[in-house]
Amino acid sequence: MVLFLEELNTVEFSDLVKKGALTILPIGAVEGHGPHLPLGTDMIQPMALAVRLSERFDAIIAPPIHYGECSSTKNLPGTISLSFDTLRAVVREVLEELYRQGVRRILVLSGHAARAHLMAQREAGKEVMKRFPDLRLMILSDYEIAYELLGKDFEADDGHAGDIETSRILQHREDLVKERPPKADIKKNNYMIKSDMGEFFPAGYWGDPTKATKEKGKQVDDFVFKELERLVDQLEKLAG
Ligand SMILES: [Zn+2]
Repeated sequence: MVLFLEELNTVEFSDLVKKGALTILPIGAVEGHGPHLPLGTDMIQPMALAVRLSERFDAIIAPPIHYGECSSTKNLPGTISLSFDTLRAVVREVLEELYRQGVRRILVLSGHAARAHLMAQREAGKEVMKRFPDLRLMILSDYEIAYELLGKDFEADDGHAGDIETSRILQHREDLVKERPPKADIKKNNYMIKSDMGEFFPAGYWGDPTKATKEKGKQVDDFVFKELERLVDQLEKLAG
């Protein structure tokens, strides 16, 4: 059974919290993903994993935070970004509220893996842990796990809206995947600062979306899910 927090009543919520249920907080982004994937791509992926985790662990899925911090794609049509400080504050307050309600194990699962976006969440997490040291908290992006497949099952230079991401969206929302453009490269320079960091990937994506298949999407999701299962088990042991 999938347990969405907003569908539970007060009695059901209290019972689950008393049993020590894990709570998953999915975080997305509203961000341009090339001409072929929807703006909500980074919300679709962690929600699909959260549903599987909820079924597996009787975990509560908290209502997701749909907006994220997207500095490098800000100039793409449709990107709607929060600032670093706003995201940090929102994540901190939601975590504090979950704690106040008795939740003691939380997995924050972000579909967007940009460095600053994850840093804002980890800063929030550290602040919360200073106040509530008995909380067990993990914060990660499914892409931090999925990128382990780069250079193995996927090309090493795959990235934003490329083969992996297009495959995963094909698996979950094929209806939202439009005509796929050819491979695009990123002109990456880790040290150069521009007012529009999007200049490094003018196509708005990089990697090869034409190689994507539903089957590969399932393979990536299964790989990520297996690792998440291991991490949640760890969280259980830490809590014990
Ligand atoms: Zn994405």
